[in-house]
Amino acid sequence: MYSIPFRHLFIAAAVSILSLGSLSCDTRAPGNEVVVTVRPLYGLTAALMEGAATPHLLERGTDPHQTVLRPSEARRLAGAGLVIWLGPEFEPGLAKVIEPSHSFALAQVPDLDLLPARLGDVAPKPQVDTRSLDPHIWLSIERMRRLIIHLADDLASRDPAHAALYQRNRAALERDLADLSQSLAARMALLAQTPFVVHHDAYQYFENDYGLTPPTVLEGSDHLPVSARHMAEVYREVEKASPACLLVETGQPGKLALKFTGDTGVRMVVADPLARDIPPGPDLYQAALENIASAFETCLKP
Ligand SMILES: [Zn+2]
Repeated sequence: MYSIPFRHLFIAAAVSILSLGSLSCDTRAPGNEVVVTVRPLYGLTAALMEGAATPHLLERGTDPHQTVLRPSEARRLAGAGLVIWLGPEFEPGLAKVIEPSHSFALAQVPDLDLLPARLGDVAPKPQVDTRSLDPHIWLSIERMRRLIIHLADDLASRDPAHAALYQRNRAALERDLADLSQSLAARMALLAQTPFVVHHDAYQYFENDYGLTPPTVLEGSDHLPVSARHMAEVYREVEKASPACLLVETGQPGKLALKFTGDTGVRMVVADPLARDIPPGPDLYQAALENIASAFETCLKP
C-alpha cells in the first residue's frame, strides 16, 4: 500500500532532475538513468549514448517473455529517467512499474511495420489472439535503422546538452547497420531456398529482411505449449521438405526439440536471438546479428 506514494516520489524526482537537462551527470542516481529491458536493444542504446553515459541493462531471466523482476530492479525501472522497452503489449509484467512519460516503447514507433505473430493457433486450446504481433523486432536490422532515428531524437530531447553527440553517434551507427545488413544480405542470398525448422518462432523479421524460406515452426513466438494436431502437421511438412536443420536457442534444448530431432534425425543448430552470450557494450547488437547469420549459415549451408 505504500508502494504507490513512493513511486510517485521517484517520478517527481525524475521530473525535476530531467528538467535540469542532463541524463548523464550521474548514471546511477534515480531519475536520470537510462534502463533498457532487452539485451540487443541495449547494444543500440549504448552505441547512441557512447560518450554521454552508460545505460543500464535490466537484470532478470534473460527471456523478455519472462518478467520476473527482483525488487531492486523494479525500483530501478520505476525511478529511471528513461526506460527503453518493447512496450506494454510485449512486456506486460513491466507495464505497472514503467512510467509512460519516461519510457520509449518500440511498439509505438510509427514506421516499424510490426509483423503479426505466426502460428497463433497451435496451442492445445486456442488461447492466443491470432492478431497479436511478433515481438522479436530487433532481429530486423532494417527496422532498427529506422528505430535509431526516433531513439536518438528522443534521447536528444531529454538531454539537449548532448544532442549533437547523440546525432553523431546515430549517423555512425546508421552507417554501421547499413554495412552489416548489406553483408548479411549477400551471405543469406546463397541460402534463401533451403527449408529449415525452428523451435521457437523468433526469426520472422530476419527471414523477411533477407528473403529466407519461411520455416516449419515447432512453437509460436508466444512460447505456449502446442497441440498434437500441430505436431502432426509439422511431421508431415518435414517429410515433404527434408529441412536442413532445427534452430534451437542457447541453453538447454527443450523436450519438444529433443523429441523432434530423435524422431526425424534432423540436426540441431544453436542460435542466440537474445544475445545471451554477448557481453553488454556498444557493439553488442552488431555481434548479435553476426551470430544469428552464422547460425543460419551453419544450418543452411549444404
Ligand atoms: Zn522469443
